Amino acid sequence: MNRFVVHGVFWDGPAALGETADGGSPAIALQAQRDSSGAALHAMALEPGTSLGFRVLPGQKYCLGHVLVYSAIKREHVLCPDGAQAVRGYQCQRCFVADNARLIHDFHRGGRVPPGLRDYLMAQHWLYVATFANGDSKVGTASHPRKWNRLAEQGAVVARYIARADDGRVVRLLEDMVTRDVGLAQQVRAVTKTAALTSPQPAGDLKRRNAASVRAAQAVLMTTAITGFDVVDETWVRPRQAAVLCAPGNRLRYPQPLDAGTHGFTVASLSGSQALVRVAGAEVDFVVDLGALKGRLVELGNFTTEVPSLQEALF
Ligand SMILES: [Zn+2]
Repeated sequence: MNRFVVHGVFWDGPAALGETADGGSPAIALQAQRDSSGAALHAMALEPGTSLGFRVLPGQKYCLGHVLVYSAIKREHVLCPDGAQAVRGYQCQRCFVADNARLIHDFHRGGRVPPGLRDYLMAQHWLYVATFANGDSKVGTASHPRKWNRLAEQGAVVARYIARADDGRVVRLLEDMVTRDVGLAQQVRAVTKTAALTSPQPAGDLKRRNAASVRAAQAVLMTTAITGFDVVDETWVRPRQAAVLCAPGNRLRYPQPLDAGTHGFTVASLSGSQALVRVAGAEVDFVVDLGALKGRLVELGNFTTEVPSLQEALF
């Protein structure tokens, strides 16, 4: 059967070298149904021009497995041994319990972690301030090996690294401090990012918003008693695949929910898991969050998206 559980959009490839360069080799990861032994994730590249056609099978979301962390650079994504449906987020109970990644957020508050995860957390991390298309900013952290990729996956429009920390404990202490003292959130919801990308603010405005948040955060970093980090000021390079979607333009929110129905479109631009897509016969482009397909069972094929008349889409 041509059926797959969608694991989401990943940017695991090498960083973009400049804003006119592609980076990250974005792909949507698909797991063949009933193919739960071994590493059976298929990556479908999401370069601009990629056509996607699929039908979303109705029903609950499926478990996406769990992560085992062996060291600072070695981890394994274990597919769900039971092919189970998800009961907690994107996991079944068994995978939730087995998952190492969920312990990361307890570590800097004194939680105990397995040796491999400890090795990962004791390696160098980066603190960043990312700004999204509506001007909302967040503070966040990235491990050194995923310094660039983490921000590509987040779909940042503008971002700067503001500290290089000795380990994952220090970086999370800094992150919490910036949230507390500057008021920067640690999360921007996917639906907010989608809505923002239907009418992105001008690039200059977003750069100014980001710079203001960076200055406020750096002022806090300069005066803290926390040790084990250096203040830095380094620009994150946005990949070319995101340029069109992040620039102001004529587009609408995708007209159908992704939890059911048939869909068919061509990807024109991609930022994180958000795509600017063209639907045959439609007069405008649409912004769709492909991340909303996570955990869904889809059947690939020559399917199409039903587009209401423009008037209906607008009102
Ligand atoms: Zn599972």
